[in-house]
Amino acid sequence: MHTGRFAPSPSGRMHLGNVYAALMSWLYARAQGGRWLVRIEDLDTMRCPRHFADEIIDDLHWLGLDSDGEILYQSERADIYLDAFNMLKSKGLVYDCFCSRADLRASSAPHSSDGTPIYPGTCRLLTPEQKSELLKTRRPSQRVHLPDEFSEFNDLTYGVQRCNLLRDCGDFVVRRADGVFAYQLAVTVDDALSGVTEVVRGCDLMPSAHLQIFLYKQLGYNVPDFRHLPLLTAPDGRRLSKRDDDANISALRATHTPNQVLGIIMHAAGRCPEGAELSLDDCLQLVVDDCKNK
Ligand code: GLU
Repeated sequence: MHTGRFAPSPSGRMHLGNVYAALMSWLYARAQGGRWLVRIEDLDTMRCPRHFADEIIDDLHWLGLDSDGEILYQSERADIYLDAFNMLKSKGLVYDCFCSRADLRASSAPHSSDGTPIYPGTCRLLTPEQKSELLKTRRPSQRVHLPDEFSEFNDLTYGVQRCNLLRDCGDFVVRRADGVFAYQLAVTVDDALSGVTEVVRGCDLMPSAHLQIFLYKQLGYNVPDFRHLPLLTAPDGRRLSKRDDDANISALRATHTPNQVLGIIMHAAGRCPEGAELSLDDCLQLVVDDCKNK
């Protein structure tokens, strides 16, 4: 069955950009006769107290967006990620990395399209002696070694996306030094096991899709479709951020109806005139055409 999802990281209240991702993923799921799931990406439990997740779920409900299945919490799924991690390990794809953030910042490695340094592979080349020396004083994170090969997928909004995995993305962390599994692994395992067929989210996550597709294939899962969304901007062209109070859902809820908020989002996305009030059904009419030429 066609399955979409919204996977917020509950490190605060949602802003309009998050609500846009939630709304569009719901609309594309419904427009294709599918179901829609919510998953709470609270791997980093220190940054994600439970009340933020509760508020996000309540804000979604206020807008009429309710999960069609059980809401998963990534903080409760470490055993499941461990199985996938062990499978990657048994394939010889995982290695220990002792580099700190400061080491990485200080390196002259090139940066990827999203501004993060491309890992130069330093720790892949450690000898067993160097490694046991480092293990005395540092706990390593674990990285997946990527092949020097091209990855390609057809994004449903932006068309063909292509990059060289090793050179443009670089070996990435699957488990942090504190033992917490990293976003790329958890999101892939969860989307696959929940039967997600279309991932709809902001285009800031486009580079991650290449890494996730690599993991889908290595773990023997079906690769879903990806539909990345242009990022919403404020009327003056700035990218909306959590700092904008006018874009914070709690401020909007205090002074607007759900249909007014839906109108504000669809207007910011260039899909309706300013001041429109839209029901979820009205919004659905605006996206059904997008799905016809899929
Ligand atoms: N949890 C991520 C975020 O809130 C989104 C992950 C995804 O949609 O793949 O930015």
